[in-house]
Amino acid sequence: MRPDPQPPKRPLSLGRLIGGLFLPLVVLAFGAAALLYHPDTPLPDPWNPTTPLDPMAEVTPLTHWKLSKAVSDPMLCWAALSASGTIYSTREDQNNSDSCHIRTPTRITRIDATRLNPVETRCEIALRWAMWDRHGVQTAARKHLGSSVTRVHHFGSYSCRKIAGSNRMSQHATANAIDISGFDLADGTKIRLRNDWDGPADKAAFLRDVRNSACSWFGLVLSPDYNAAHHDHFHMDQGRWGRCR
Ligand SMILES: [Zn+2]
Repeated sequence: MRPDPQPPKRPLSLGRLIGGLFLPLVVLAFGAAALLYHPDTPLPDPWNPTTPLDPMAEVTPLTHWKLSKAVSDPMLCWAALSASGTIYSTREDQNNSDSCHIRTPTRITRIDATRLNPVETRCEIALRWAMWDRHGVQTAARKHLGSSVTRVHHFGSYSCRKIAGSNRMSQHATANAIDISGFDLADGTKIRLRNDWDGPADKAAFLRDVRNSACSWFGLVLSPDYNAAHHDHFHMDQGRWGRCR
């Protein structure tokens, strides 16, 4: 685990809230109208607001809304995680102290075809990670490097500590974050943030692409662009700061 500095406060604005809800509401309205006029019309699951999140399905304007429902309920979260092809085990909530605990502890050993050193995190982080792997990481690997990611490297999730230079507890103190340090590809290529963020053009483009896509699945993403403390990893968490850098 590496130190993550205190992000500046950025309150959720009404504009961002409305902007985030606008598209799903429009889709819902059109879907409802279509069902009203043609009740027998089959609505594909990814476009059907009544079906649960399928992490393997195409991303539609409803996907993030379904994800927000899944991460708010442990049973829905684990069901979606199973559907994502993630191999994991669970145990009872761990309350180590007032400020250090793991809710919905989920020990991941593989995300679909992507191997990793086993790590325990919260189900919500595991599910967001699975969504990012399928819809961000693998897509970027095919686009920039013509291969697929077979292993992801990380610095862990849970760590009972404060943010460096702050009295506030880190998101890692509640396993509400994951630090990602690199990727191995099917063709043997190894990509590490510490070497390749400013490395060969294709690897650097891949890393920026996966950083940007992480921002749509996590609440906060910090990369080497943020500061020197993040020169060798992406910090990704569910915090409400909404920072992507
Ligand atoms: Zn971190």
